[in-house]
Amino acid sequence: MFFPDVAAMRSREWKDKTAYTYGLHGTPTSYTLEERLCALEGGQQCLLVPSGLAALGLVALSLLKSGDEVLIPDNAYGPNKAIAEGELKNWGITHQYYDPMDPEDLEAQISSRTKLVWLEAAGSVTLEFPDLVEMVRICQRRKVLTALDNTWGAGLAFPPFDLTPGSAPALGVDISAHALTKYPSGGGDVLMGSVITRDASLHLKLKLTHMRFGMGVGMNDVEMILRSLPSIFLRYQAHDRTTRALASWAQAQPEFVQVLHPALENSPGHVHWKSLCQQDGQDRGAAGLFSVVLDARFSQAQTDAFCDALKLFRLGYSWGGPISLVVPYELETMRKAWPKHLKSGTVVRFSVGLEALQDLQADVQQALCVLR
Ligand SMILES: *Cc1c(COP(=O)(O)O)cnc(C)c1O
Repeated sequence: MFFPDVAAMRSREWKDKTAYTYGLHGTPTSYTLEERLCALEGGQQCLLVPSGLAALGLVALSLLKSGDEVLIPDNAYGPNKAIAEGELKNWGITHQYYDPMDPEDLEAQISSRTKLVWLEAAGSVTLEFPDLVEMVRICQRRKVLTALDNTWGAGLAFPPFDLTPGSAPALGVDISAHALTKYPSGGGDVLMGSVITRDASLHLKLKLTHMRFGMGVGMNDVEMILRSLPSIFLRYQAHDRTTRALASWAQAQPEFVQVLHPALENSPGHVHWKSLCQQDGQDRGAAGLFSVVLDARFSQAQTDAFCDALKLFRLGYSWGGPISLVVPYELETMRKAWPKHLKSGTVVRFSVGLEALQDLQADVQQALCVLR
């Protein structure tokens, strides 16, 4: 953009999101998306970054310095752990992994060096639903910042910020990071992330780092998210409906010794999902993901053959798009310890797209034949 004269150039403050200053600082197009995402999640300030992972990185980069410690749930999105094990470690920032299903373990690990606690609900791959309310309460009492990876809830399953004081349970995280790549995009064809806050000084800290590292996003990508955002609620509901039906059906298959989905009564953390996502008798929903534990008598090679035999569920990472995806995981390589509430076996995660339930069910049914 060009300024009409030097006075206009000098007087333009890049932090005021009113007009063009320089592409990396945003444009009226990106300011519009930021405002809409704030409305979705109940936040006040928003920063857009090139990916969900960049959102997680920006939080760490802005708020931690040498000598600090960050606490991360053991079932966190894997690459968030990799940031801690890579760059943060190199910069003298330590980390600990806490048991997401044990708030006492979280509290015990908080020290004077703890400057940030990551939260995630439901957990990555194993989809446990933690007692978020209790964990946020602990962090507030101990005066430690909380950052939630809100990709699963997407601003729909539960409000990450405390909007209605007095309504129970009230959740009040400091930061919500969201992989817009998933439900806000909905197409599996654009990468973006957001970092939302409700505190101007916290936002400014994040914003300065965002600016200094040039973490701006491309406006064509922003436009794509703006186009799909209005249908996020209907899509989330559709994914949710098919996923719950498929997950219940999977429970009856003898090859699966455990089905993980927070809305299933025997899934770890179901009570916490229920109290947070079913407020006032209204079911606010769950993301379109479920995982199964295959009986330990099946080898990894057999599990891989099962995944290879699926036709509608394509082999691929990510989720939130129209096409169903499947990934077999070697969980023992991903966790500090095998989760206590998880039966032994191999874990396969399904991400349910927008195909017909009967077709997806028939696909899993025919793939199970390779195990029979
Ligand atoms: C996908 C995902 C991310 C990262 O998003 P990208 O845009 O792929 O970098 C972060 N957290 C969770 C929970 C995710 O599912």
